[in-house]
Amino acid sequence: MPNPKRKHSRARQAKRRTHDVLTVPTFAKCPRCNQPRLPHRICGNCGYYDGRLVVKYS
Ligand SMILES: [Zn+2]
Repeated sequence: MPNPKRKHSRARQAKRRTHDVLTVPTFAKCPRCNQPRLPHRICGNCGYYDGRLVVKYS
């Protein structure tokens, strides 16, 4: 198995981890049922998108 020749420095490890960030998703209110919903997504509560019923939850 090929192996790295040297251990990566702490600086290199830290530079790689600058991308390891979790962000809190933004929410938009559903105009129909006022529930929080992800923008540009179908509402998980009423199944509407752009004023139109897209998914029926039975
Ligand atoms: Zn809704």
